[in-house]
Amino acid sequence: MLFHSTRGGDKDKDFASILMQGLAEDGGLFMPDHWPQIDIEKIKGLPSFIEVAKEIVPHFTSSSFTHEETISIVENAWHDFEHKDLVGIKTIENISVLELFHGPTAAFKDFGLQLAAAFFNQVLEQEDKTAIVLGATSGDTGSAAIDACRSYSRIKSFIMLPNGNMSEVQRRQMSTIAADNVFALRINGTFDDCQDLVKQAFIQRDFLQSDQYLLAVNSINWTRIVGQICYYFYAYNQLAAHQNLNFSIPTGNFGNVFACYSAFKMGLPINIISVAVNDNDILHRFFGSNDYSKKQVHETISPSMDISVASNFERLVYDFFLDRNTSKCAELFNNFPSQGIELDETTWSKKNKLFNSSSVNDAATQEIIQSIFQHHHYLLDPHTAVAMQEAMVSASDKNHFVVLATAHPAKFPDVYKKLGIDLTQTPTALRGLFEKTEQLHHFDSNYDQITSFISSHN
Ligand SMILES: *Cc1c(COP(=O)(O)O)cnc(C)c1O
Repeated sequence: MLFHSTRGGDKDKDFASILMQGLAEDGGLFMPDHWPQIDIEKIKGLPSFIEVAKEIVPHFTSSSFTHEETISIVENAWHDFEHKDLVGIKTIENISVLELFHGPTAAFKDFGLQLAAAFFNQVLEQEDKTAIVLGATSGDTGSAAIDACRSYSRIKSFIMLPNGNMSEVQRRQMSTIAADNVFALRINGTFDDCQDLVKQAFIQRDFLQSDQYLLAVNSINWTRIVGQICYYFYAYNQLAAHQNLNFSIPTGNFGNVFACYSAFKMGLPINIISVAVNDNDILHRFFGSNDYSKKQVHETISPSMDISVASNFERLVYDFFLDRNTSKCAELFNNFPSQGIELDETTWSKKNKLFNSSSVNDAATQEIIQSIFQHHHYLLDPHTAVAMQEAMVSASDKNHFVVLATAHPAKFPDVYKKLGIDLTQTPTALRGLFEKTEQLHHFDSNYDQITSFISSHN
């Protein structure tokens, strides 16, 4: 399997190159040259999440790794999960909550990032090189990236945290790591400032040693998507008895939804994919009224979905709406965000076959948390609650809904304090955070100061 850019510039790339490169040269996103087909009957009978993943991952890695190498990485990639089969499932009437928060940072991002980090390390060992991971985070990406990379001594992680809306638990998950290859940089600026600094660093690369990789851990890295495709097939493995599976997914950068769509293209039977967002509604405006245009970010109680543009959305436009026409895709996205995207009516209407969307504000999110807690004694995190709404409206005996639970509620204690709900369980991953000392390196949004810090710790 080889890969190419959604904008047509990069072609015939092997897995290891796109893993290490992240974004394509032309600014596009990497896509597999075709969708591998999975034998869905075989998936039904598999005994564990890892066995399911072993049926998925090798399809994408075959251009760079032998089957045995991939299998060995898959067997060892995911670590420190509290659930024996990694993913939990809690069924409430016609809704199953797919609990993806049992990993070491208590959010679903452990699935994508641990797999990516294991492959990073494999390439670095084979080539005897080292790497810098540089990322910006508004919430859960940073801690998952740090945790996934910290045990690999060839990788040093520098993660920028903006001033802003992340919860104290989220911040402490990054600032209390006592490891000499991990640095949390507190930037006096917004998330967009941090992302701009990361972009500039990827262009200038003036702080790297010769032969050193600069790795991107943001959600456009294809290997993160691969790690996430696995749990959609696992959901089928566990829930295939229900006819008509629908997935409702709380989303920001569209990575998790694109993984679901990928699973669909690989043969997973899916009725509807429900795209659920908070007040940051660019995706809802697109699916609801064909308007994909950038607006200001609003702070919400589901901060990991507070985005102004959804970086993985280009992949869906390219594959689903434009039937893989690279020049049309390049035209649309080279002009974005200065020009918003509006598809022609017939092209846009294709969405009706597979997608719907909803935007859920903070008040409604809180009501959903209350209601599910009161009636079912089950606590949803605020991101998951956003996706619960559509499931509560549309689930029935004939239409089972799977809601993706992307974070553990204990990451957002303030939300429950306000609702008067006691958080009774804290996962091991989050214990002791408030007793540890924080180690934050403070910077203004200044490229030279930040990169000279990186050079001197490299
Ligand atoms: C990152 C994140 C999301 C959004 O995921 P995308 O793949 O960017 O759509 C949702 N919920 C939580 C808890 C997250 O950390």
